[in-house]
Amino acid sequence: MPDITTIAACSTALGAIMCIAILLSWFKDGRPVQRRWQFAPFGIAVPAGVLLTYPEILPGPLGLRLGWFALTLVYGSAWLAARVTAGRKPRPLLMLLPCVAVLLFSATIGADDAMAELRMMPRVLLFALFDGLAAREFMRMRQPQLQSATTLYWIFAVFCVFELLRTPFSLSLPAPFGPKETQVWSIALFNFLIVLQGLLLGVFLTALGREQLAAQHYRLASIDPLTGIGNRRALDDRIEALARSPRGEDCVAVALLDIDRFKAINDELGHGFGDIVIVGAAMVARETLGAGNVFRVGGEEFAAIIQARTPEAVMTRAEAVRIAFEARSHVSGSESRRCTISVGVAMMEPGDDHSARFTAADEALYLAKHLGRNRTVLATPGQRAAPPPIDLRAVAAERRASA
Ligand code: GH3
Ligand code: MG
Ligand code: MG
Repeated sequence: MPDITTIAACSTALGAIMCIAILLSWFKDGRPVQRRWQFAPFGIAVPAGVLLTYPEILPGPLGLRLGWFALTLVYGSAWLAARVTAGRKPRPLLMLLPCVAVLLFSATIGADDAMAELRMMPRVLLFALFDGLAAREFMRMRQPQLQSATTLYWIFAVFCVFELLRTPFSLSLPAPFGPKETQVWSIALFNFLIVLQGLLLGVFLTALGREQLAAQHYRLASIDPLTGIGNRRALDDRIEALARSPRGEDCVAVALLDIDRFKAINDELGHGFGDIVIVGAAMVARETLGAGNVFRVGGEEFAAIIQARTPEAVMTRAEAVRIAFEARSHVSGSESRRCTISVGVAMMEPGDDHSARFTAADEALYLAKHLGRNRTVLATPGQRAAPPPIDLRAVAAERRASA
């Protein structure tokens, strides 16, 4: 049967191994600044474990007191690691203050055994508080691409509840849970829980770092660098998500938008000015339809998902983009130009073949161009949006205009 010191020494050694593993993984990942804080709880856990296992290395009750103080810092720095992982500022002073207060409190009430539970209670409540705060940070981060944030939320929430639940029983429990004489099982359980929490934290923080990197890569791969809106990949994902989510009473439509006579703008005012017009179109569309609903799918072509209560409301929203774009002046230096856009809209029914709806929207766009541009055309359900008979005189006039 291992004795108390052996168990405590083993868990300290395990903590040291975890600390080295975290440090190596940090170096391997290019020493990211954000992950420096993730190392802190593991780094502090080692001296905490040494002091609590061998308190006699310091005179009087100092070793044990500093050991417990270091352990409160371990929980506090785990909270700071959670904050930094969630993209928030660490607050070391805010964490340090209650830890110092608990240290001073335990020092002022003396080393008397009868006061053991009084010294311990604020400490346990502080562990619970830091666990709860860390759980809150991970709860805020929860999103489909960051599965480990949800796992970490549950880990910290469970440990927080455990700390709170054990507080009322402290008077009758053996040390280090309560004031009674230390038992092998109590020291084993105490160390097991700390090592378990550290292990889970190390594993899932590392996994979360990788998930955050993957999510960042996905964002970069699905955003059009010129306009900052989603590209075709983002559109595919949006349509997939749309098929999965219940749409309720809403009508859903796909709209294709194409800037009119854009080649002439490029030729006349230069490619740089053309880019300004493209950015302007993206801004107008995202302001009118919402940032997550507009995608750049070609040079001066955009696709949009429009959701509204009725087909008429869908058309009103599509028209709103066209009208707002027509009213916008595009400016570069002394040059200022207004441009127009044509829009083709196709309503989507549940279970529809999406590519067929895009073809319908494309045909409606073609019709809008044919009818004179700067207009919105709705594809008739179930039938192709056929162009009107070609007016040869109009075509000749158009050729003359663009020549
Ligand atoms: P229509 O009214 O029929 O749409 O006429 P259009 O001139 O707009 O038609 P077209 O689609 O033939 O012209 C698109 C032009 O867009 C051709 C290409 O040079 C230009 N283009 C494509 N990508 C970019 C880009 O990123 N920036 C700029 N400035 N121009 C681009
Ligand atoms: Mg085009
Ligand atoms: Mg065009």
